[in-house]
Amino acid sequence: MTKATLIFNARLLDESMDTPGALLIIDSDIRAVFQGYFTSQETASVLAHSVLAEDGREQDCKLELYDARGLTVTPAFIDMHVHMRYPGQTQKEDLQSGLHAAAAGGYGTVVAMPNTKPVVSSMEQALQIESEAAAIGLTNLFQVVSISKDFEGKDTSHLDELDRHYIPVISEDGRDVISSSVMLEGMKKAAEKGLIVSCHCEDLALGEQAKPFRQNALNIMKAIGLNAWGSSEANYNPDDVEQAAIEQIDLNLTKANELLRLAEDTATARNILLAKQAGCHIHIAHASTKNVLEQIYNAKYDKANDDSLPDGFVITAEATPHHLALVGTEEPLIRALVNPPLRADEDRELLIECLRDGTIDVISTDHAPHTMEDKEAGSPGFTGLETAYAVCNTVLVKQNNFAPQKLSQLMSANPARILGLTKGLLKTGYSADLTLVDPDEDWIVDSRMFCSKGKATPFEGHELTGKVKGLFLNGRKVFER
Ligand SMILES: [Zn+2]
Repeated sequence: MTKATLIFNARLLDESMDTPGALLIIDSDIRAVFQGYFTSQETASVLAHSVLAEDGREQDCKLELYDARGLTVTPAFIDMHVHMRYPGQTQKEDLQSGLHAAAAGGYGTVVAMPNTKPVVSSMEQALQIESEAAAIGLTNLFQVVSISKDFEGKDTSHLDELDRHYIPVISEDGRDVISSSVMLEGMKKAAEKGLIVSCHCEDLALGEQAKPFRQNALNIMKAIGLNAWGSSEANYNPDDVEQAAIEQIDLNLTKANELLRLAEDTATARNILLAKQAGCHIHIAHASTKNVLEQIYNAKYDKANDDSLPDGFVITAEATPHHLALVGTEEPLIRALVNPPLRADEDRELLIECLRDGTIDVISTDHAPHTMEDKEAGSPGFTGLETAYAVCNTVLVKQNNFAPQKLSQLMSANPARILGLTKGLLKTGYSADLTLVDPDEDWIVDSRMFCSKGKATPFEGHELTGKVKGLFLNGRKVFER
């Protein structure tokens, strides 16, 4: 017997639709989308039965009704950049906690980076992780494979066996491939196989130079108790700490961030040049500086106008919720340390405009959970899956007048297109991966409530608007709040 579910009394929202309506799911796909006020169970069910009759499936179909009163139904979010820390660092996160966090954040699909222990450098390892993730029965996971074998920056022979249907993305995330010739070789293989090369653009030598300054800042933060965990009580209050210490933190972070800015700008330029040469699809991870945004804009212009470029050259890019919400100088906290660092307000403002005009294609969390000990020792990054929607809804829709459809495009439709998935839209034939949200609910971030093991977040104690209330995956309800 097939299962059909009718979600009625909903607001339907995707990149091109914002309307009251109902959705009929059969098995794991969207079968029909009805626009209009279907507030009563009876009307809605008549409608569903007429479609089932049309399909000749009324007899062998069990219909369930789901009243979505007060909720917005939107395609499940897709995250092209998460760290599940599995295998090897399960004290930070594991597949169970990570996929629960993804589901609680409204994510139907996540793309997991390979900077694990060991590094994921083969089709076999990646398929093993994907099958373990699938057995959990929550968010769908694609595992990324490293560009160079074991992140050693030398050998790319492991790429020869990859199949893009299972492994759509390769990346050295967390670092960059130092050798331009190895990067070019990896990109050429990616071009042949139709793989996306996700680039963490950071010149390693400049990154190294930034470390002592960051360490100084970290030591002062520790000394004056700007702790890593960021429990609600420990929120930063500038009146409580010595002004001189804050100035020293600022000074050191500014020096570190200047070097890390140059590291991102130069590495992005190199990686775009190599991708043009290789004719591959380059995806710029966590773009954060004004210069990088200009480079992406120009490269997209070249793609559209320069006939001498190979057809295979494609450039897409992502922004993280934290780079579009926060400014570095306002967050002198251990928990806010991240790579690339939180930037200046002018970078942040341009980033928002680039999301608006399409220079940036998607929002990715760079969910990077750590233990408190690792965070206190300066590990960059923090948990992001469970705050992403609310942060983006607050900053983009509420504060910057983005249409809700645009946010849906950035979080669902565009990442689905880039990854080549029949997801991300409320459309007949598309996967019934659906997120239920209340875009007007205010809440205060309390990391103790996170499913993720990573409790450090720069949004601790922030009031945000927009809450994920439920998730359907392949037509099955897997999460409800
Ligand atoms: Zn990265």
